[in-house]
Amino acid sequence: MAVKYASIIIDISHENVDRIFQYRIPQKMLEEIRAGSQVCVPFGSGNRIRKGYVVDITEKAEFDPSRIKEITSLAEGSVTVDTRLIELAWWMKEQYGSTMNQALKTVIPVKKRVKARNKKVVWSMVEGEAPGAGSFHGPCSIKEEPCLNQEQKRIVEEFCQDYDKGIRNPCLIHGITGSGKTEVYIAMIRHMQERGKQVILLIPEIALTYQTVMRFYKRFGERISVMHSRLSAGERYDQLERAKRGETDIMIGARSALFTPFERLGLIIIDEEHEGAYQSESAPRYHAREVAEHLAEMSDAGLVLGSATPSLEAFSKAESGIYKLFSLKNRASTGSVLAATEVVDLRREMAEGNKSVFSRRLQELMKDRLGKGEQIMLFMNRRGYSSFVSCRSCGKAIKCPHCDVSLTLHNNRSLVCHYCGYRIPMPTACPFCGSEYLAGFGIGTQKVEEMARQLFPGARILRMDLDTTSKKGGHEKILSAFSKGKADILIGTQMIVKGHDFPGVTLVGILAADVSLYAPDFRCAERTFQLLVQASGRAGRGEKPGIAVIQTYIPEHYGIRTAAEQDYRTFYRLEMGYRKMMNYPPTCHLLKLQVAGEDEALTGYMMDRIRDSVVRHFGSCTEVIGPNPAPVYKVNDIYRKILYIKQGNYDILIRIRKYVQDRWDETEDCRRLTIQFDFS
Ligand code: ADP
Ligand code: ZN
Ligand code: ZN
Repeated sequence: MAVKYASIIIDISHENVDRIFQYRIPQKMLEEIRAGSQVCVPFGSGNRIRKGYVVDITEKAEFDPSRIKEITSLAEGSVTVDTRLIELAWWMKEQYGSTMNQALKTVIPVKKRVKARNKKVVWSMVEGEAPGAGSFHGPCSIKEEPCLNQEQKRIVEEFCQDYDKGIRNPCLIHGITGSGKTEVYIAMIRHMQERGKQVILLIPEIALTYQTVMRFYKRFGERISVMHSRLSAGERYDQLERAKRGETDIMIGARSALFTPFERLGLIIIDEEHEGAYQSESAPRYHAREVAEHLAEMSDAGLVLGSATPSLEAFSKAESGIYKLFSLKNRASTGSVLAATEVVDLRREMAEGNKSVFSRRLQELMKDRLGKGEQIMLFMNRRGYSSFVSCRSCGKAIKCPHCDVSLTLHNNRSLVCHYCGYRIPMPTACPFCGSEYLAGFGIGTQKVEEMARQLFPGARILRMDLDTTSKKGGHEKILSAFSKGKADILIGTQMIVKGHDFPGVTLVGILAADVSLYAPDFRCAERTFQLLVQASGRAGRGEKPGIAVIQTYIPEHYGIRTAAEQDYRTFYRLEMGYRKMMNYPPTCHLLKLQVAGEDEALTGYMMDRIRDSVVRHFGSCTEVIGPNPAPVYKVNDIYRKILYIKQGNYDILIRIRKYVQDRWDETEDCRRLTIQFDFS
């Protein structure tokens, strides 16, 4: 029988989890030991027995096998939360192809040398408005619990009955915007509290606002912990320690809150399940939905996903019965109805002489709302629409010398590269032909603000984008001013679309619905549909009915048509047809493999070799596309090439990933390149 070695960390909360020691696994323990197991090992020169965690198992000795010590025994005691998280890290490493170290660091809070502090972190927000930790007691006592309506009640009852019976199928709640999903979560959390269980609630970072968090504080007070990206490492660590000691029952946070060390985890809820932000951008490049599914299974916990526009992945699982599907078809607040939507064809506006970003219909409605003192939100999809500068004489656009993208005009004064930060003053003449006729194209939020001011000089306007929210608390300041009625119009990017409840808004204008349709991504129609539905969902949240105006150059596109009709099912059917035809996820599984390097020829050469060997070993049942240059081929003087691998069987795809990874690193050339794996 082969000798096996276990990689062991002695102190998992130590700053340096890189300190991994190898031990031989005694034959009699081979069956029992796996990642996460707690074992006793002889440690140091005195061979004092210490407890450690197994983080990995291999057949390869890292140094002279005769000098490797043997594991003494399995440690007493049952599965702890640490064991579970290490096991999860190991699973993530296998699944997504990172190192064990990267996976451990993602999953386990690392102690940073910080002074012990008593201050409990509650919610850091706008200076001057920040309530201290204690001041939540005030609103806590007032419980504004609405009675659940029939639709909501049915979901909660069925979920709770199933849970008590030990049924743990994941649930998907497909509920239109404002249908009261949050109230359903709250009732489910109550049920968990009564059972002595703990809950993790994931919310996209962007929607993790003071408003949202307050809603939960009002109901659960001190039993809640919040984790958001503005916390320092020390504050994060404190939060997680409190969770581990059982001082909290509920963790609300973005993606990484999934790794809260709750001993009695009972339920994971993922709100706005379709959000792209649930996928990590650094290794391990995990998707929170997939990890949550695995973690829930390991912990015997429930999993609830909610969305007005479910991802195709989630909805297809619901259709095939893997998830249990619940629907909320009506708005929850009495009198509130979904906004009426109108689609405006921008081609006709142009043909009839209106060159403004605001269609005539939108202008008319804006005027009406301003007259009545009602609020307006204008949404500008930023991606691909920020203004670049080109020459009217020779037609060339001014590009970044290090990246394959056009520079973006800021404040009419400087040109900036959004990929590498390169910045130059706005030139007075074309660098190619010397002509003075340089002009900005495309429209950013700034330009929209300017034009709105020209059109409605009396209106009070707020703008929310990267420029206006970069300061700490900038976000909250703008949202809170708008919600207090201190402005008539809020102009913004994707940021204003998510999760905000402004009852005073009766008009939403989506200025250029189709820009996101041109993104080089098979999910672009899905993303566009989601954005449009969520954006229209901002109108008419109060008692007065709302209108959403969708401006587009392609009103006939199914993504736009179905969004205007708020018809998820039809969109799903058409989009699924497209995915099936093209063999894209969720019909099959897709691995994106990217190789990047400064040496363009070497990058291409290695990519070709990878393609050839994948085709040779897995070709008969695997579709390989490319290699092709990445949509933005050069960034920061680094060239990037992409290979797509499609497979119906996820396990084979993971095998392909391992196969490529195992052969990587063996040559000199690999060290001059980087490789990245991305499952979608
Ligand atoms: P979602 O999360 O689906 O967007 P919310 O839970 O935020 O919906 O609910 C939208 C609005 O409806 C909120 O203002 C909420 O207080 C209110 N609401 C939710 N459930 C009820 C109910 N059963 N009765 C009355 N109002 C409700
Ligand atoms: Zn020119
Ligand atoms: Zn650049």
